[in-house]
Amino acid sequence: MPADLPLILVVEDEKPIRRFLRASLPKHDYRLVEAETGKQAMMMISSQPPDLIILDLGLPDMDGVEIIDQVRSWSQLPIIILSARDQEKDKVEALDRGADDYLTKPFSVGELLARLRVALRHRAKVALPDDAAEAGVYESEDLRVDLQDRLVTVEGQTVHLTPIEYRLLTTLITHAGKVLTHRFLLREVWGPGHVYEVHQLRVHMANLRRKIEADPARPRHILTEQGVGYRLGMT
Ligand code: CA
Repeated sequence: MPADLPLILVVEDEKPIRRFLRASLPKHDYRLVEAETGKQAMMMISSQPPDLIILDLGLPDMDGVEIIDQVRSWSQLPIIILSARDQEKDKVEALDRGADDYLTKPFSVGELLARLRVALRHRAKVALPDDAAEAGVYESEDLRVDLQDRLVTVEGQTVHLTPIEYRLLTTLITHAGKVLTHRFLLREVWGPGHVYEVHQLRVHMANLRRKIEADPARPRHILTEQGVGYRLGMT
C-alpha cells in the first residue's frame, strides 16, 4: 500500500468489527492499523499519528472518551466514534469532548466511507492556511457568508440575520462537516450558563433555517443529527 494513502487507526476490541473494517477499508484506498485496547491505541497514536481515528467507546481497559481527551490536548485529528445503541449518552459526551462524528453499530460500508470522506475533508480544510475560511468567505451551493463583512447571501440576495442566528451560523461554519451537539452550540453561542436550553436553540435554528434554506423542511445546509445536534453539510 502506498504510504500517502490516509492512515486510519481502528480502536476496537470486538474482533468481528475489526475484521469488517479490515475487509472493507483497504479496498477503498485507506491504510489500516488496529488497536484492541486504549493503552495500545495511545502508544500507536504517539509513535505514528494516524490521519483519522475510528474509536469504540467501550474498551476493555478504559473509556474511549479518555482517549479523546488525551488526543485533543495536542491534536485536532479527526475522531469518529463507534457506539452501540445503549451508549447514546456516551456518544453525546464524546462529541461534546471533541469527537468529530459517530457511527452507531451496526453500520454499512457506505455509511462509514461517507463519514470518512467528510472527516478527512474537514481536516484538509483546517490544515490549509489559504482556504476560503481563512480568507473569510464560506460558500456552499446557494449560500455565501462573508465573515469579514458579516454579509450573508442566498442566491445573491442579502439575508438579514439576528446576532444569535449569525453566531449560530458562523459556529457551524468554523466546524463545517463536524457534528456539533446541542450542548456545544449552546455553550459557544449563549455561554456556559445556558447549556441546557435546548428549546431556545431549536427556536433560533428554525428561524435561521427559514432564512437560509430553500426548503426548511428538507434542509441542505444545516442538517439535523437526531437527538444529538446539528452539522453543516459540506457540498
Ligand atoms: Ca467494545
